[in-house]
Amino acid sequence: MRHLLDIRDLSTAEIDELMDRAEDIIDNPKKYSECMHGKKLATLFFEPSTRTRLSFEAAMLELGGSVLGFSEPNSSSAAKGESVGDTVRTVGCYADIIAMRHPREGAPMAASFVSPIPIINAGDGGHNHPTQTLTDLLTIRREKGRLNQLVIGCCGDLKFGRTVHSLIHAMMRYKSIRFVFISPKELRVPDYVLETLQKAGVSYVEVEKLDDVIGTLDVLYMTRVQRERFFNEEEYLRLKDSYILDVDKMKLARKDLAVLHPLPRVNEISVKVDDDPRACYFRQVAYGKYMREALLMKLLEVEA
Ligand code: ASP
Repeated sequence: MRHLLDIRDLSTAEIDELMDRAEDIIDNPKKYSECMHGKKLATLFFEPSTRTRLSFEAAMLELGGSVLGFSEPNSSSAAKGESVGDTVRTVGCYADIIAMRHPREGAPMAASFVSPIPIINAGDGGHNHPTQTLTDLLTIRREKGRLNQLVIGCCGDLKFGRTVHSLIHAMMRYKSIRFVFISPKELRVPDYVLETLQKAGVSYVEVEKLDDVIGTLDVLYMTRVQRERFFNEEEYLRLKDSYILDVDKMKLARKDLAVLHPLPRVNEISVKVDDDPRACYFRQVAYGKYMREALLMKLLEVEA
């Protein structure tokens, strides 16, 4: 039985296979429409979500399977003090696979030790979000035509933004990747993530101004300042509008830039940028569903 807790649980070859499978599903949806008949996905969301939960559910439904679950801890026995371990042992009696989001770093991993069925980490605190990364990789591959030889800018809250941490761990495995990290000093990429880049000899720079570097980027990965992870509201208010990507800034960017954002957007991308063909974030949402379909098939060892 395999879980997906960290993007590093998958080899590069497996990620490439998942992307190929997702593209085959895009091209031949009918071929896959009944393959999960009789299988059930449980979505256990102890923290809010729109895209991740609904795209998991849509993915399972499109493959002919069924879904059950909860979307906030207050409607589960977590509100009575039940442990995550006991919850997954229970859900393991009803479903075949679990997608779990939790505000505590490492909670899906702890759950995996006692779970009788595969666990997918759908976001754990400020730590990891591997299925967003699978989505991001397919988006980059489709928009840029490659995953090698790219200058990737990550901008915003690089400290608490779990999607950035997982993206770094995935993209650093491809050839000739250079990262440009754009953040206020307070929201820099954590040292434990930078250390993996240093050990692997992957090149990166850290800067504070987007204008200075936007013209050098192939991909710009914008992120929201993660209000829910701040201890201090004043600090959040001071940092929340550190970066706003607008039409003027887009004029400084390359004609073939791809702008990604895991969403939800708050203020960091002006809605006027949405009509720019370089804005990929809503296409990115669509790719997420297909990648999750491919992942569910892999972990449940289901073929079309
Ligand atoms: N939806 C992403 C996440 O769950 C990004 C965000 O919330 O800012 O991490």
